[in-house]
Amino acid sequence: MLDQIAKAPLIDIQQVCRSFPKPSGKDVVVLENVDLSIKEGEIVGLLGRSGSGKSTLLRIIAGLISPSSGQAQCRGATIDGPPVGISMVFQSFALFPWLTVLQNVELGLEAKGVDRAERRKLALAAIDLIGLDGFENAFPKELSGGMRQRVGFARALVVHPDLLLMDEPFSALDVLTAETLRTDMIDLWIEGRLPIKSVLIVTHNIEEAVLMCDRILVFSSNPGRVARELKVDLPHPRNRLDPAFRQLVDNIYALMTQRTEPRTPAMEGIPGTGMGMVLEPVSTNILSGLIEALAGAPYHGQADLPVLAGTLQLEADELFHLGEALQLLRFAQLSEGDIVLTDAGKKFAHMETDSRKKLFAEHLLTYVPVIGLIRRVLDERPNHTAPATRFRNELEDYMTESYADDTLKTIVSWSRYAELFAYDEQTEMFSLENPQ
Ligand code: ADP
Ligand code: MG
Repeated sequence: MLDQIAKAPLIDIQQVCRSFPKPSGKDVVVLENVDLSIKEGEIVGLLGRSGSGKSTLLRIIAGLISPSSGQAQCRGATIDGPPVGISMVFQSFALFPWLTVLQNVELGLEAKGVDRAERRKLALAAIDLIGLDGFENAFPKELSGGMRQRVGFARALVVHPDLLLMDEPFSALDVLTAETLRTDMIDLWIEGRLPIKSVLIVTHNIEEAVLMCDRILVFSSNPGRVARELKVDLPHPRNRLDPAFRQLVDNIYALMTQRTEPRTPAMEGIPGTGMGMVLEPVSTNILSGLIEALAGAPYHGQADLPVLAGTLQLEADELFHLGEALQLLRFAQLSEGDIVLTDAGKKFAHMETDSRKKLFAEHLLTYVPVIGLIRRVLDERPNHTAPATRFRNELEDYMTESYADDTLKTIVSWSRYAELFAYDEQTEMFSLENPQ
């Protein structure tokens, strides 16, 4: 038995599914048949778009919620409540403002019943390790964002966990601070100075994953599942400009765009198309800007996504939202890591504002089923008005409340630009009134 426990992976997730109930009654499946195992000595990355269920999976591993079905084990024992030996670092700095740095760090030990002197010793060591020496008695409000996140790390590390879970730990920091903290973490890890055995880091930043991880699991969305697993065999310290590094980043971009092939009417029944199409709130200004940038030099209609993301200073995730929006409107296509303008996209780029609005309206009516539906309902009703709830309910049959909200907001802003119909925020009514 003991032997078995020693050999069991640190974390073993098998066929885990998780759904959440919706107000309308039906459940939304967020994770589907997820398999994942973490061994000692590795940094594993979970890479996927917002809403793909990464945080949900992390919360299952941390024992904060349970799977709807499937198995989640820590060292061979089913996870049932927070397991011993797992700490979590959150995206934002979840510190107690009325406690000093030292007190914040000690907190994790108090719960474990460690005595006072030992607590102090361990906390001071963690603070020292993470580069906060001299700030023991400072309060969170006196620290910069980067320093506060260091306190978050120290608090997670002080208990010497086997597994450190990190949920987008650098995403709330500015670029430079994030990079410093990342490199510090990796240096400590390589020097064997971190009192932990493994790391699971969630991110939507491809370069961050390639920089830090030994293994990357690429998550697909709606529902989330592990689409691919990649090994990163590059030695540390890794150099972002190294051709092998660039190649891997390129490959992952390609992987993540492969799945979004042009949708055909035959795919109407598939989640994510038809009425279930989630529309991310992207402004029409930004969409037109992107079309213009793509149509002009040096791209002339086709660009490599990583290159374009770099030029436009966008994160992978943001560029995907934009690219997918253009794709579902048939102004561009994503394939193999490239974004290519369609003929309509090229036409749009060379039009005046009024013609652009007309073309945009045509595409909205043709390719976004819910917009076609709103238009038909408004046309048919004698007073040409309809409440938003009518369409919200319809959307909620296909997606979670928050996605339905986003989708409605997007519909309002896109159809305003296209002058398709009007929307009154106060009464929450769509109408054909003054659509011009
Ligand atoms: P990610 O971390 O990849 O951005 P999340 O795991 O936070 O994704 O969320 C995935 C999906 O699950 C989202 O659609 C979100 O709205 C939904 N979700 C997460 N937690 C809950 C919950 N407690 N109740 C209902 N829906 C939830
Ligand atoms: Mg998340």
